[in-house]
Amino acid sequence: MNDLQQKIYNRLVRYVAFDTTSDPNSSVTPTTDSQISFAHQLAAEMKKIGIKDVEVDEYGFVTGLIPPTTDKKAPTIGLFAHMDTVSDYNGHNIRPVLHENYQGGPLVINQAKNMVLTEQNAPRLAKCIGDNIVTADGNTLLGADDKLGIAIIMTLAEHLLTSPQILHGPVKVAFTIDEETGTGISYFDVKKFAADFAYTIDGANLGDIDCGNFNADSFVLRITGKSCHPGSAKGFMANPVRIAADIIASWPETKLPETTDEEDGFILFKDITGGLEKAEVQGIVREHDLTKFSQFKQDLLDLLDAKRAKYPAAKIEVEFKEQYRNMRDILRTRPQAMELLQGALQENNVSYRLTQARGGTDGAQMTFKGLPTPNIFAGYENPHGPYEWCSLNWAERVLQVLRSIAQNAVK
Ligand SMILES: [Zn+2]
Repeated sequence: MNDLQQKIYNRLVRYVAFDTTSDPNSSVTPTTDSQISFAHQLAAEMKKIGIKDVEVDEYGFVTGLIPPTTDKKAPTIGLFAHMDTVSDYNGHNIRPVLHENYQGGPLVINQAKNMVLTEQNAPRLAKCIGDNIVTADGNTLLGADDKLGIAIIMTLAEHLLTSPQILHGPVKVAFTIDEETGTGISYFDVKKFAADFAYTIDGANLGDIDCGNFNADSFVLRITGKSCHPGSAKGFMANPVRIAADIIASWPETKLPETTDEEDGFILFKDITGGLEKAEVQGIVREHDLTKFSQFKQDLLDLLDAKRAKYPAAKIEVEFKEQYRNMRDILRTRPQAMELLQGALQENNVSYRLTQARGGTDGAQMTFKGLPTPNIFAGYENPHGPYEWCSLNWAERVLQVLRSIAQNAVK
């Protein structure tokens, strides 16, 4: 293993030993105290390797500056990775296992539990012949999402700080809280951070770049009925239970999460409660294209109009709430982040794919707050479960791409 990969690996092992599982049911920020302790550990390491202006704020966000090595004009670039791991699977007592110089074929994670990475559950492993692969031991997730991102950024920082001959402008780093719960990044002080553009290092597959995401609304349908004794209900009763079922069943089957992929949007009816007095249906609308997104909402409104006509005795109301919007359009008007990224990928011979995330990203929220932030792959696969794995060779490629971005940004 080469020096950079060894450093990334050593850090990954150290970082995943901290249990920083976030808690989607917590209403405090950060959702778990462990993230604050981890933040202070990272801050100490940042100071030790020479990062300047290191700060941990009241929420646990850690920030710092890699000072420029040239007086030439250069934008301030931000690099982000998140500290928490998802609560979907055990994140306690993680013991990474290194599989050096992977030679192809099934890769055993845990013999006793018969847990093996195969072509079916890890199709991209076949691209990693000769790579140094890291997995968990079959009892936990690995936590490379996103501690590999942190390890890459920290190793790059150390590399830049010990290589003054590499000319670059100001590079700011930020380690963030509660990405997995989706509740952290709104507390991040984008203005104070004062970067011109940034990248989250938090994607999977080598070469995948998320430069867009869904437009997202949630909605609540409220149906108020007319109740009476069922024996004398003819011509009078309006039953919210049946009306809710009718509305849900009438939505086109081709526009559901289970029937769409890539850039097609959907409506998900995700919760239903109620009785003969009233019923409530909760759902979400997702679509990449803003015009089509509005049409989805209009289609739902039209469907509700039809049901109002069908059930005149019932009251049917709907309320939409904005969740987030697609960053694609902003990244197009402020193209520097994507231009530098694509140039660096080409320079480092990484074949890449521009994708639209089928979800939101922390970067999308920051983009809307004025900091254009596409998402770069970190080099892990199968996150959020025991089959998570990562390639240290991929991680090293990410580091090289980021270094090129920093160098090429100097005019
Ligand atoms: Zn992540």
